Amino acid sequence: MPLVYLSLGSNLGERCDYLRRAITMLDEHYAIVAISSVYETAAWGKTDQPDFLNLVLALETPVDPITLLDTIQAIETELGRVRRERWGERTIDIDILFFGDQVIDQARLSVPHPRLWERAFVLKPLYEIAPTLSFRGRSIQQALADLPGQDVRYYAETATDC
Ligand code: AMP
Repeated sequence: MPLVYLSLGSNLGERCDYLRRAITMLDEHYAIVAISSVYETAAWGKTDQPDFLNLVLALETPVDPITLLDTIQAIETELGRVRRERWGERTIDIDILFFGDQVIDQARLSVPHPRLWERAFVLKPLYEIAPTLSFRGRSIQQALADLPGQDVRYYAETATDC
């Protein structure tokens, strides 16, 4: 079965709680094999918003990538719905970083995730659970070393402790 890496982020409301609930929902569908620590990062681009909590997890699944995307979007909608009723915005972002060694370039899905190489908040937790991972000659370790100065702070060992 392909090993799949997902990135999870939350910057609104009870951030750890949303991460924890997303993990619980993913665990109902897939065999999660590793989960990184939780890291905190200042929001990118649009900086007038709260800091993000991010983590990366690895799972194994026999389903195809679009089916996985459907499921993670259903989880985002489910958790976002709870959020929207109270605050009007989304609380959890789930991205597919890698799907085994597949390269996917479709309207709904690009894998490997096209922006992962420039995001220390993705690479740092990914390096923690997959220190030797590389894709087509590009290593996570090197990509992280090429990104000095991005402030990604260790926050908690697990989403359950934070
Ligand atoms: P965002 O709001 O930034 O999470 O973007 C979500 C959109 O990105 C959705 O419409 C997805 O279909 C699309 N997308 C493309 N590639 C990916 C990926 N690797 N993981 C998650 N969503 C993706």
